[in-house]
Amino acid sequence: MSLKPLWLRDPRAILAEGAARGIVVDGGRIVELVGAGAEPNTPDCAIFDAGDHVVLPGLINTHHHFFQTLTRATPAALDRELFPWLTALYPIWAKLTPDLLDCAATVALAELLLSGCTTTTDHHYLFPSGLDDAIDIEVAAAQRLGMRVVLTRGSMNLSQRDGGLPPDSVVQDEDTILADSARLIDRYHQPGPYAMAQIALAPCSPFSVTTSLMRRTAELAEARGVRLHTHLAETRDETAFCDKMFGCSPLDYLEQCGWLHERTWLAHGIHFDKAEIGRLAAAGTSVTHCPCSNQILASGHCPVCEMEQAGMTVGLGVDGSASNNASNLMQEVRAAFLLQRARYGVSQVTGRDALRWATSGSARCLGRPELGVIEVGAAADLALFTLDELRFAGAIDALSALVLAGAHHADRVMVGGRWVVEGGAIPGLDLPGLIRRQNAAARLLHE
Ligand SMILES: [Zn+2]
Repeated sequence: MSLKPLWLRDPRAILAEGAARGIVVDGGRIVELVGAGAEPNTPDCAIFDAGDHVVLPGLINTHHHFFQTLTRATPAALDRELFPWLTALYPIWAKLTPDLLDCAATVALAELLLSGCTTTTDHHYLFPSGLDDAIDIEVAAAQRLGMRVVLTRGSMNLSQRDGGLPPDSVVQDEDTILADSARLIDRYHQPGPYAMAQIALAPCSPFSVTTSLMRRTAELAEARGVRLHTHLAETRDETAFCDKMFGCSPLDYLEQCGWLHERTWLAHGIHFDKAEIGRLAAAGTSVTHCPCSNQILASGHCPVCEMEQAGMTVGLGVDGSASNNASNLMQEVRAAFLLQRARYGVSQVTGRDALRWATSGSARCLGRPELGVIEVGAAADLALFTLDELRFAGAIDALSALVLAGAHHADRVMVGGRWVVEGGAIPGLDLPGLIRRQNAAARLLHE
């Protein structure tokens, strides 16, 4: 972190009002917006010339499964919908080890960071024997790279033996899950604003956890003041499963388990009807839209406009790299823009809307109003893009060009006032070495 306040001066473009001459950051926060024709009031600033840069609030990823970077384009799972796709992957995932997860998490975090993402969640629900420290491994990887994280302690305890989808080898018992959840909150959860690490609780889905675990997790989250996350309304298979197993819809089930409130954010939210969207809005429950994953698994289409019109918060997530395959949040912005514009038309969906989902929308999903915006008092989390790639040659409106022409690699990224990407690279990270290690790890997992 710079000892002096830093003026990011005269950006080519910036996603903020009243900051034509840039912003001043100090002590990990944005302390001043510098308007057209003005100079900073903050004395004694160091200067970063941002004349070549388009400046965005750091992007925020609200759904992922880092370990799945080891199962991109896995032959057994290609061209399958969610349930058969999961069934093909569970036996491979069951072989995950601490070293493989450390590698996969580093890959996912680095890929996100280089795409302009400054805060990410992860939904780690896989705890085969020997991988008890999965979340600890992820915290350490995030700290090494300087990323802000909200890591969720995922869980599965409903195996095929009891009518669930996953095999016995990847589930844990309820008491073990709850004890570890409490341990992780005690050890890592920073409750206040500007936190670099937070913990949330995340039973995986209605078809992989018991009702008892859903309820007890909600009670623990309430007692400890942490948020709740799960997959819901992703596929019609899930709706049919809930009907058969619980005799109700996925949303009714969520409510019965004590989850329908403002501390819950849901991944996907595709198969909600109008009345259900009204119930979610009234409860303050938010949804993470995952457009690439939803398209690759042909899960359906998240009704983001109906949700926002009803007053719901919509965020953006890349989802796991076994479904999306990529972990690039800037590319996800473009995917969300294209999918939703095709559905709703030019008057309802713009590139700015897609950027809003990935910034302030995602921040609200996480209950973090100090993130995802360029305002005085917000965290100094920024993504800076240049337009010197071939794909931008000839572009006039710089902010629009990022979405329309497909920006995918940030030149500079700042988290809490500290540069963590410079010149398109992560200082101190041996990227070719990491790629070699990950390729070897993936081969090991698929043996
Ligand atoms: Zn997911």
